Amino acid sequence: MKPAPFIYHAPATLAECLQLLAQHNDEAAVLAGGQSLLPLMRFRLAQPAHLIAIRNIADDLRSIRNTDDGLAIGAGVTYIAVQRSAEARAACPGLVNAIELVAHPAVRTRGTICGNLCQADPASELPAIALIMEARFKLRSASGERVVAAKDYFLGPYMTARKSDEMLTEVVFPRRPSEEKVVIKEITRLRGGFPLAGVALALMRGKGSTSLSSVALACFGVNAKQIRVPEAEAALVSHGYTAAGIAAAADAIDRAIHPHADPFASVEYRRSATRTLFQRAIKEAHEEVSAQ
Ligand SMILES: Cc1cc2nc3c(=O)[nH]c(=O)nc-3n(C[C@H](O)[C@H](O)[C@H](O)COP(=O)(O)OP(=O)(O)OC[C@H]3O[C@@H](n4cnc5c(N)ncnc54)[C@H](O)[C@@H]3O)c2cc1C
Repeated sequence: MKPAPFIYHAPATLAECLQLLAQHNDEAAVLAGGQSLLPLMRFRLAQPAHLIAIRNIADDLRSIRNTDDGLAIGAGVTYIAVQRSAEARAACPGLVNAIELVAHPAVRTRGTICGNLCQADPASELPAIALIMEARFKLRSASGERVVAAKDYFLGPYMTARKSDEMLTEVVFPRRPSEEKVVIKEITRLRGGFPLAGVALALMRGKGSTSLSSVALACFGVNAKQIRVPEAEAALVSHGYTAAGIAAAADAIDRAIHPHADPFASVEYRRSATRTLFQRAIKEAHEEVSAQ
């Protein structure tokens, strides 16, 4: 199907882009890589009257920078650029590993990190990574800038704290400690497809062989939005990498998730897959931190 009619804008500066967003507000959509927006427009599930492409904006939108706050990724940065960035790999290896699970190279060549985080697909890997890494979102409008923490940014399926006159200009992932291991596990129907269920886990070892000093855990594809599971994190920190800790965390995850059924997987399947993915993730992460 063809998209509904729209007016195409390709501003050359961020200021011009923000003015257009202020002027057209709800009627406008930012076009980044187009890998989600254009299919939605073709199905007429999205019908923006004004499409504001950011491809011509140089400013800082295409940069990946190491800042005092962490790794700053601009709105025009594609997945592939992050995968190829030595700085990103050093500062945030877990992010790069997660990107490798997103779609396939053709999509990753055009799609952007910020576009993904604006789309906020509940099955996507990156919001889960943003949650466990406590990323910060820089939102700019013609009238100013605000920074929103990941825990306040994702509001529901395809819904974020971004207002319609705001643009996500940058996302900042705090630099990770070198002793931390991040493991992301998911199950998909087809390689490169959206996951049916997934778990992202970041952990650091404590002093004893089973002790864990910090754990951050998020689930995706099994709720209206990606969620962290503080009860599971606390169980692992208090019991460590023991059968009791793993069982308590798995039970906490089971209580926290609310999977849906669709033609591809039942509620029970998603629950069972999440438990298994968690068990695999914690085993792999613990083996990796123990080998350090
Ligand atoms: C075949 C296929 C498989 C895929 N598999 C996966 C997968 O496994 N996992 C996954 O996470 N994704 C997957 N995707 C989605 C893909 O990752 C998209 O690239 C991504 O979701 C959106 O990024 P984009 O740059 O293409 O954004 P666009 O499609 O251009 O925009 C997406 C939405 O965000 C808004 N937007 C974009 N950038 C900004 C900004 N800077 N400020 C404000 N609003 C903005 C747009 O207006 C639009 O509403 C897949 C897509 C395809 C086509």
